[in-house]
Amino acid sequence: MVMGELPVHTEVLVIGGGPGGYAAAFRAADLGLDTTLVEADPQLGGVCLLRGCIPSKALLSLADLLQRTRGAERMGIRFGEPEVDLEGVRAWKQGVVDRLSAGVARLCERRGVQWVKGYARFDGSGKVRLQHSDLAGINFKHAIIATGSRPKPLPGVALRRGGRIMDSTGALALADIPTRLLVVGGGYVGLEMGSVYAALGSRVTLVQRHERLLPSADAELVAPLARRLEGQFEAIHYNTRVHHLEERGDGVHAGFEGEGRIDDVVFDRVLVATGRQVNSDDLNLESTRVQCNPDGSVAVDAQRRTTDPSIYAIGDVAGGLLLAHKAMAEGKVAAEAIAGRPSAFEPQAIPAVVYTDPQVAWCGLTEQEARAAGRPVRVLRLPWRVSGRALTMDAAEGLTKVLADPESGRVLGVGVVGRDAESLIAEGALAVEMGALATDLALTIHPHPTLSETLSEAAESFDGQPTHYLAQRPGDAHR
Ligand code: FAD
Repeated sequence: MVMGELPVHTEVLVIGGGPGGYAAAFRAADLGLDTTLVEADPQLGGVCLLRGCIPSKALLSLADLLQRTRGAERMGIRFGEPEVDLEGVRAWKQGVVDRLSAGVARLCERRGVQWVKGYARFDGSGKVRLQHSDLAGINFKHAIIATGSRPKPLPGVALRRGGRIMDSTGALALADIPTRLLVVGGGYVGLEMGSVYAALGSRVTLVQRHERLLPSADAELVAPLARRLEGQFEAIHYNTRVHHLEERGDGVHAGFEGEGRIDDVVFDRVLVATGRQVNSDDLNLESTRVQCNPDGSVAVDAQRRTTDPSIYAIGDVAGGLLLAHKAMAEGKVAAEAIAGRPSAFEPQAIPAVVYTDPQVAWCGLTEQEARAAGRPVRVLRLPWRVSGRALTMDAAEGLTKVLADPESGRVLGVGVVGRDAESLIAEGALAVEMGALATDLALTIHPHPTLSETLSEAAESFDGQPTHYLAQRPGDAHR
């Protein structure tokens, strides 16, 4: 925090120091605008850095390490049972978080962004009042709302700090390794955290109200992950809802209805991961001209300008995909729009990654979306069992899919399930964003042997046959 002379007037006020907020503040400062960032947390970084992307990925790296050592026996190497020092794990994870958060604070200072601690609420279209701050309020010319989102509670279930029923923040705190863990929700947070606890030794039961995991992702990509998790978790109940959760002395008593109907079963801990709600309800937006969508997200245009011309909104609070990279991209657009630059948020592809084992990643159009829209596409597949690199990594269950326009060959979407899908999807996003043709991917020389070849080989089937895969007859590729 910048001590001493604190500003009471600023050109650009960014509310929220998460990835969206700090990216917006940095871009605004880089463009020469006098910028102030107000954050309610004592540390910068928001949900992503403090209680989301970064701590979860730190724990998932450990889960990956544990699973790989267990799987190494297939490759002729045997490790002994690992000993988990929970305090050591927590300290390492926190060290990563603290280092990155301090880095964001240093970047604020070096860019001349004023960081003010406090909780902001609007008092009209040109001022916020602050609570828990050295300042009573700040006047602004432009404001960017970047207040993010919070876990959505399960109706009728109150979460107690330190209680056995946890949200993602509680699960990331890793208070212990529960013998029996119930995960409510088969979205990416439930799957990632369930994988972490399963790798650490918990017996995990997952309850999913949909008929499959990750309902918004491509079913074909999710299938290998579901198979793997069905082996790792004690049980996955599909089409099932939790109808009661009650914390008692011996644990949390839970009852499910639906396919996996169980009236009373006891767990040591429960993770509720049923989605997130946006933080727009406590900003006193009524004092401004900002309007919200029916789901509570702030309504914005392509520049991320709200219905109040002096106020912008970005990141989770502006709705759409609740992802950090989307928040950062929007933050830059809003700052540029305020600086008078011709900027718009109009991505063709926002990649999404689920950091499980195997990882699932996709961008652009999915097969389900194409089908729902009645849009013809060619689906070009490369199963990893024919990839030399996948086999050397013991990762043959992967699959790479490229969706292309059947006439022009333009790449419309890419999906990957398998090791390192998180990195592979970036090339897919570039292809979709640049309007590349399948033949562009196919003719680009990819290094051998790498998993990246699965993209170029999948794309090769647009005009012929991939070098290492003959199974697709021309008709098979049409969907
Ligand atoms: P946030 O990061 O939510 O930051 C908002 C900030 O605003 C907070 O620091 C909050 O304290 C502050 N704030 C709120 N109200 C006020 C106020 N009135 N005054 C002052 N400050 C205020 N996304 C990915 O892309 N990749 C991942 O791997 C990933 N993993 C995740 C794992 C978990 C467990 C969770 C929960 C989320 C994950 N996400 C991931 C989602 C990601 O964290 C969010 O999309 C991202 O943090 C949104 O950024 P944001 O800047 O919009 O808001």
